[in-house]
Amino acid sequence: MEPIRIDAVELRELRVPLVSPFETSGWREEEKGCIIVQLKGDDLTGFGECAVTAGPWYGPETTAGAWYVMENYFVPTVLKKEFASPEDLFESLSIVRGNSMAKAGFEMACYDLFAKREGKSLGKYLGGTKGKIESGVSVGIQKSARELVDVVGEYLRQGYRRIKVKIKPGKDLDQVSTLREHFPGMVLMADANGAYEVSNVHTLFKLDGYGLLMIEQPFAWDDLVEHANLKRALKTPICLDESVSSVNDLKTALALRSCRILNLKPARVGGLTVSKTIHEICRTHNMPIWCGGLLETGIGRAHNVAIASLPGFVLPNDISASKRYFDHDIVEPEFRLNQDGTITVPDRPGIGVNVVHEKLLEYAVRAEQFRS
Ligand SMILES: [Mg+2]
Repeated sequence: MEPIRIDAVELRELRVPLVSPFETSGWREEEKGCIIVQLKGDDLTGFGECAVTAGPWYGPETTAGAWYVMENYFVPTVLKKEFASPEDLFESLSIVRGNSMAKAGFEMACYDLFAKREGKSLGKYLGGTKGKIESGVSVGIQKSARELVDVVGEYLRQGYRRIKVKIKPGKDLDQVSTLREHFPGMVLMADANGAYEVSNVHTLFKLDGYGLLMIEQPFAWDDLVEHANLKRALKTPICLDESVSSVNDLKTALALRSCRILNLKPARVGGLTVSKTIHEICRTHNMPIWCGGLLETGIGRAHNVAIASLPGFVLPNDISASKRYFDHDIVEPEFRLNQDGTITVPDRPGIGVNVVHEKLLEYAVRAEQFRS
């Protein structure tokens, strides 16, 4: 394959209003902020999304920090340079430590570019085998258990295959038990975003009685030992999210036996190259994985749909329809939920959806072009 020379880079910070605020144990978002990366080469444009939160809540990165790293380190690294593959471009970004979400924005744009040049859908380009992926929905913390029942009931009516509720100490047992009363057979899981400590582990033991599909990230992101202890003590599988930002984190989690399931978010691990490696390692270890989300716009969503089409993604993903988050997504067609609770993997080249330029302009708060 001929290499691709990157002729131009465009960065654009967006703030897209959410249809309803999204609240977790640690933060609340009224709008989805992100940085859209465009890489141009071979008369094609590849789109990537840096799905970082405005502040360092989900992980240590911020929008301002990601922009700084991109402008000062990644643009000079890729502009006017040739790359033999997206993996090659990803390798060049290793001059910077960490900053996985910023890396993912550039690396995903490069995947879109190469897949488009090959005339292949991104799913096929990555080795995906599925035409449709299972769709679940993540429900933020609501004011009361009663309101949570209403919100969840509506998502079930729409056909989502799995409900995930955000929990935190004091907003947990009442929420989960009320949901179980109303929807005894629903596939339900809970995500704490690291809000629990060993001192309130008794609550997690009580949650063990509600037939949850899994409990996600109960303890702090850097505490793999207590996750291992809890995993041994609970029937409910423990799933890790924030704790695994790299292949080496996964190795540590496997060695310590800290989880039974992994929530893989391409944005969190630096993009699709590392996602593919993690997918392979997890398959070797018979560890089920599913694709999580960070309220991505249609661009990041398209990348997540593509990676989730790989065979190791065996549980419903946090990849919902565009409408669950936005009145108007920035891509066409928007991602829609099929009647059977799935989302169709686009089969057109690259991310397989068109980016609506007017929407990019409408939601942009900052933009910069870098040319050779
Ligand atoms: Mg999570």
